[in-house]
Amino acid sequence: MSDMLSAELILDGLDTSIIGTRILYYSTVTSTNEIAMMEAERGEQQGTVVIADEQTAGRGRLKRTWLTPEGNIALSVVLYPEIRILQSLIMMASLAVSHSIETVTSLETQIKWPNDVLINGRKVCGILIESDVRNEKVHYAILGIGINVNAGKNVLSGVQTPATSIYLETGKEMSRLQIIRGLLKSMDNLYHTISSGGSVFNEWRDRLVTLGKEVRVTSGEEIFEGIAELVDTDGSLLVRSPDGSLNRVLAGDVSLR
Ligand code: ATP
Repeated sequence: MSDMLSAELILDGLDTSIIGTRILYYSTVTSTNEIAMMEAERGEQQGTVVIADEQTAGRGRLKRTWLTPEGNIALSVVLYPEIRILQSLIMMASLAVSHSIETVTSLETQIKWPNDVLINGRKVCGILIESDVRNEKVHYAILGIGINVNAGKNVLSGVQTPATSIYLETGKEMSRLQIIRGLLKSMDNLYHTISSGGSVFNEWRDRLVTLGKEVRVTSGEEIFEGIAELVDTDGSLLVRSPDGSLNRVLAGDVSLR
């Protein structure tokens, strides 16, 4: 199956009003977030999408590495959101990935708080949002998404957390083009919803596999365990410790196992 990508192929009849109205496609980059950030610093159009076949220095949260071997998707979106919707971007991104994978493949997906998309409990997508906020104003937010589409077992074996790809789950190679187009469409719809005062919280919460589970939270030097009880509308997680206290955990600075 030919699985070539190009800006023209992605844009052909895409019909979105913000996300993906401008597409920059590269075969290899250091990190799509890095390129998108330079675009944002130049004030380029909101909804600009940077896509690459390969990242040589893909990054995850907390200075972790994100692997993008051949056949996968790495893309970043430039946004200039109002500060009130900044917390909803994680929800929007993970939901859009879930929608597009489910539509194209008919696989079921789950979301691991705050931002991993899983299939059968294994990570198929990582999301990294990097924003520049000054004086309560968002100068830009870069929404980076990596999806394992056609990666085989060998390339994912180096990953520490349980990982999978759409190929490994279905036994079939899938069209990255279809998944990207579905993703941009879904993100465009959800971005309109949150920008116009609507909420994506309930659907995001209902898809979380984390609630009710025992979790181990690592925040800097501090580590604690408890039961993930609830999520708040701002996306934070409430964890009940064995001593009965309820701890609020923000998405940005913690790792969850
Ligand atoms: P986690 O719960 O996996 O630690 P996280 O949100 O803290 O998630 P991310 O920023 O989403 O981390 O991703 C970085 C982590 O993802 C890396 O530490 C690595 O274990 C894992 N990883 C790296 N590349 C891939 C990949 N292609 N597929 C699945 N997992 C990956």
